[in-house]
Amino acid sequence: MLGSVIASGVPVRVWRTFLYADPAAHSLSPQMHAAAFAAAGWPGRYEARRVAPQDLPAAIGELRAPGVLGANLSLPHKEAALPLLDDLSPAARAIGAVNTVIHRDGRLLGDNTDAPGFLAALDGAGASAAGLSVVLGAGGAARAAVYALHSRGQEVLVVNRTPERAAALTRDLGGQALGAAEVPWAQVRLLVNASSAGLGDPHSSPLTPLPALAPGAFVYDMVYKPAETRLLREARAAGVRAENGLGMLAHQARLAFAAWTGAEVPAEVFLEALAGGVQAPPQP
Ligand code: NAP
Repeated sequence: MLGSVIASGVPVRVWRTFLYADPAAHSLSPQMHAAAFAAAGWPGRYEARRVAPQDLPAAIGELRAPGVLGANLSLPHKEAALPLLDDLSPAARAIGAVNTVIHRDGRLLGDNTDAPGFLAALDGAGASAAGLSVVLGAGGAARAAVYALHSRGQEVLVVNRTPERAAALTRDLGGQALGAAEVPWAQVRLLVNASSAGLGDPHSSPLTPLPALAPGAFVYDMVYKPAETRLLREARAAGVRAENGLGMLAHQARLAFAAWTGAEVPAEVFLEALAGGVQAPPQP
């Protein structure tokens, strides 16, 4: 089922993968997947494509073509794609969001690698201690985090700017929705920012002032631009270990690549590509 293109008059067989997002130009995924194809020794191409909401059905249809392995979906398509796919993984169905589409013989499976990618990032940071967790936010990323933490049997509280959305999330996925003032912060071992607060703004934070957390607590901020958010800065200043969302970004990509190709490319390849440590080779 390899696709064929003609480069310089020479037939080159190449696997194709995509990112569908709007906007798409800012994405770091092409450099990660180019490095992964190179590391795996696969002739492959990953193309970030701007897809407007009204064009999503046609773009999803294109994934059924021979030679296409699948696609990543990002904002605003993660939820809208669900009814357009043939099947959903248990995680995608429960979370209600698809970030990875896998093509097999004309059929499209929707999966969610944000959830296991988040857990792998926590593990990589040495932050998988059991105990009370708080997830800030109630969008797709928060739903993935709550699903993931519950899969490890952890107790999760959800705090969101719009309380009704936190309540809806916990109705669907379990956990308890609380206002920030009601959280027993001194017992919290893991604080996860899965909201967009702090994104692109080093001065804003989802939680001010940062409350005192349990001894040995860890703060995971899914935001990675800027690399050091205000939340991370304040956590570290308080002596709390903290990490940004680059690890999750790398691991969700690693898991998507493995689902498409079956190739287990190490997380370091994706992390180095993000850090600019690996110059992605020219795509075939
Ligand atoms: P989303 O569905 O749009 O949800 C955004 C959430 O953030 C909502 O709960 C919203 O609250 C809250 N929010 C927005 N601005 C806020 C503010 N100023 N103060 C407090 N809360 C605010 O987005 P998403 O897809 O869940 O993504 C959330 C974040 O996670 C983004 O920054 C995204 O880049 C990041 N993310 C990172 C990774 C990774 O691999 N590292 C993966 C996925 C997502 P309301 O409900 O009140 O609107």
